[in-house]
Amino acid sequence: MEQRTTYAIRIHRTGGPEVMCCEPAEPGDPAPGEVRIRHHAVGLNYIDTYHRTGLYPLPLPSGLGLEGAGIVEAVGAGVTLCAPGDRVAYAGGPVGAYCDVRCLPADRLLRLPDGIDFETAAGMMLQGLTSAYLLRRTYPVQPGDRVLIHAAAGGVGLIACQWAKALGATVIGTVSTEAKAALARAHGCDHVIRYGQEDVPARVRELTDGEGVAVVYDGVGRDTFAGSLDSLRVRGMLVSFGNASGPVPPVDLLQLSQKGSLFLTRPTLAHYTARREELEALGGELFGMVGSGRVRIAVGQRYALADVARAHRDLEARRTTGSTILLP
Ligand code: NDP
Repeated sequence: MEQRTTYAIRIHRTGGPEVMCCEPAEPGDPAPGEVRIRHHAVGLNYIDTYHRTGLYPLPLPSGLGLEGAGIVEAVGAGVTLCAPGDRVAYAGGPVGAYCDVRCLPADRLLRLPDGIDFETAAGMMLQGLTSAYLLRRTYPVQPGDRVLIHAAAGGVGLIACQWAKALGATVIGTVSTEAKAALARAHGCDHVIRYGQEDVPARVRELTDGEGVAVVYDGVGRDTFAGSLDSLRVRGMLVSFGNASGPVPPVDLLQLSQKGSLFLTRPTLAHYTARREELEALGGELFGMVGSGRVRIAVGQRYALADVARAHRDLEARRTTGSTILLP
């Protein structure tokens, strides 16, 4: 008989890692337009901590997690995009990836190329699609551009640095430790700045002949925002896409004119993958970069899904590098 016992990590209130609990779950049969997928690996992302703490509010109780890879077990009425037995992966809503089996809309799944295994897929979908839209859509990186990528040894960081380098950019990355600096250098960073110890805008000016960078990709938020603005060239773009150090306070628009007619955007993956063709195009670019070896997915940590509280603690304490996966 088909194995159906399942469980999910859920929260009934927001708070620290201890609010996550493991509960029995019954995904049932897929509704029209849905598939049921058995996860072989689940991705851990910083956004999961925002959902857990309530920084990004969810209706409670709620599942958590936005990324997984596995095999389609069953499809609902009208599903033509995939079939039982297909190897698939996804990134994005609806939340609830922290489980072994779940149903979700078929049009959010991408079929995995043969060369990409489940652990790599769960380590790359959300952070890789994010790197894809940031570098190829939000500010399309051009050969010769000088770019600054914060948290360069993180999940998005290691992917984005390699990708930016492959696009012909000079890549400057920031990290907190010397070990992370070595990792960032091994993944495409031409220059690494220790942002806890060095003056980032001053170092960036030194490294760019006083000009500043064309774009800053800033997923750190509160602690780096001001320095990011000061690191840009005239008419440069600050792409503020995350809050690992806390949310950015309200911005005085006049600063953008005073510091050089700067551009500022606060994008999210959902708005770059809302239409199926956008998701497929970005997914195709990501699979192409990984399949050709131009971007290597560094899965730095693996945890049992039941041990997810420890994974959250390590991520928030800056003890992780690259991507992190959870194994159901
Ligand atoms: P990371 O693996 O990059 O982990 C976060 C890293 O941020 C840490 O490892 C740490 O690196 C750095 N950091 C700096 N200050 C702090 C702090 N005070 N507390 C904790 N970490 C800090 O996570 P992800 O790759 O999952 O995500 C990176 C960022 O991108 C997050 O902000 C996330 O929300 C955002 N994101 C946004 C998306 C979007 O579409 N808008 C989509 C995906 C991710 P170090 O020790 O080197 O400083």
